[in-house]
Amino acid sequence: MAAYDAIIIGTGQAGPALARRIAGLGMQVAVVERGRFGGTCINTGCTPTKTMVASAYAVHLARRGAEYGFSAGEVKVDMKRVKARKDYVVGLSNRGVERSLRNLGNCRVYDAHARFVSPREVQAGGEVLTSDRIFINVGARAAVPDIPGLEQVDYLTNSSMMDLDFLPRHLLVLGGSYVGLEFGQMYRRFGSEITIVELAPCLVSREDEDVSAAIADILARGGITVRLNAKCLHIRKQGDDIVMTVDCGGTSELRGSHLLVATGRRPNTDDLGLEHAGVKRDERGYIVVDDELRTSTPGIWALGDCNGKGGFTHTSWNDHEIVVANLFNGESRRVSDRIPAYALYIDPPLGRVGMSEADVRKSGRVALIGKLAMEDVSRAFEKGETEGFMKILVDADTKEILGAAFLGTGGDEAVHCVLDAMYAKAPYTLLERAMHIHPTVAEFIPTMLDDLVPLPASIAG
Ligand SMILES: Cc1cc2nc3c(=O)[nH]c(=O)nc-3n(C[C@H](O)[C@H](O)[C@H](O)COP(=O)(O)OP(=O)(O)OC[C@H]3O[C@@H](n4cnc5c(N)ncnc54)[C@H](O)[C@@H]3O)c2cc1C
Repeated sequence: MAAYDAIIIGTGQAGPALARRIAGLGMQVAVVERGRFGGTCINTGCTPTKTMVASAYAVHLARRGAEYGFSAGEVKVDMKRVKARKDYVVGLSNRGVERSLRNLGNCRVYDAHARFVSPREVQAGGEVLTSDRIFINVGARAAVPDIPGLEQVDYLTNSSMMDLDFLPRHLLVLGGSYVGLEFGQMYRRFGSEITIVELAPCLVSREDEDVSAAIADILARGGITVRLNAKCLHIRKQGDDIVMTVDCGGTSELRGSHLLVATGRRPNTDDLGLEHAGVKRDERGYIVVDDELRTSTPGIWALGDCNGKGGFTHTSWNDHEIVVANLFNGESRRVSDRIPAYALYIDPPLGRVGMSEADVRKSGRVALIGKLAMEDVSRAFEKGETEGFMKILVDADTKEILGAAFLGTGGDEAVHCVLDAMYAKAPYTLLERAMHIHPTVAEFIPTMLDDLVPLPASIAG
């Protein structure tokens, strides 16, 4: 049996950084990874999708060349080269993580599936490792719904999409949320026909109605077909086609050449032997943790997607910072201190921080709202990218900034002005007075704040 000061299971966004910090303190660390180093973000999530979104954006701009005063001739997409570019970028990051761990002093890497055999012991291949501190960073995978016929067709997930080096003639996308929309728009721009099938009455249903309606318009203008309120009843193969029977208040059939299943994520906690360690999971399989990411078993922590507290690369990274601060730096940091923030990388992107308008209405606060169309933002019309809008919500009494949604060119970056002011607990009047650079999207934040109006329901409430 090999004894360590710490065992880390999984090399997602939290694990490698945690290993470096602990090994740097002179402690002996074991890292166990069963798959590709760097986990989802690097191999099948953020990095490859954003690299391909960049290719799709370049294709889109080239097609619009005449609007900008140039002609690039006929735009032809070579999916083998799109994939090669993606593989190159992914390879740099993946090899970087692997190299940094294998070369890390005080650290031994085990290429194996890890499983608990007791609260202090982990089986990794043929060896049993033991430690008083075990950190679980096992991530999540695509959730595949139980739909009759689905298992009989060769469906795709975010992982298998990474192997495509050809253009699907017609991609059916099951699920109209973040993953489905990013793939849907990029493949439309590469040249596929796209049909997105969503059960809910709107796309990205956790967003405000105006945000999801604007996203639906952007996708429709890009030539994507969206079927809402559509329950997928059955899937079958017919010749070369995949046929999906859907109920949209009457049954109809949708036909495509390929099918991407993008219906959410499922934590990788079912084959970890958690029952041998007394680590509790919730009904959806997420490891139950407290505000400092401690599991139900002392000496075991869970970080990243597997704890259900985030679902993003930055939340997993932040998890490792919380654990390091509390365990080794004598600080007291908590998950509940962080402000929700994320982006959706369709073009234009959506940057979101804090509460949504719906959250604010539900809270019953007396609030003010500011909203500005991207058509009124000079940076946007200079770039010829005027789709979308930005909005901000503030507390009318305390002047606290409650949340913001920036759907528009540069929205994923500009929204950080709001996020940082929220972390500083600054009143919105600070942003009103800040002088921002011209021409940027951010320079219109003060303008938007100059025109705040009462949020109707909050007055009634
Ligand atoms: C298509 C897509 C796009 C995304 N885009 C974004 C984005 O733009 N921005 C963003 O913030 N987030 C994005 N995400 C989410 C992001 O990828 C994850 O939140 C992020 O990777 C955090 O993962 P993690 O640290 O929890 O673990 P993961 O990255 O999932 O890594 C877990 C690791 O654990 C290993 N493992 C699992 N079980 C075991 C075991 N028993 N033994 C040994 N090893 C094991 C796995 O092989 C894997 O390497 C995207 C996700 C997807 C699917």
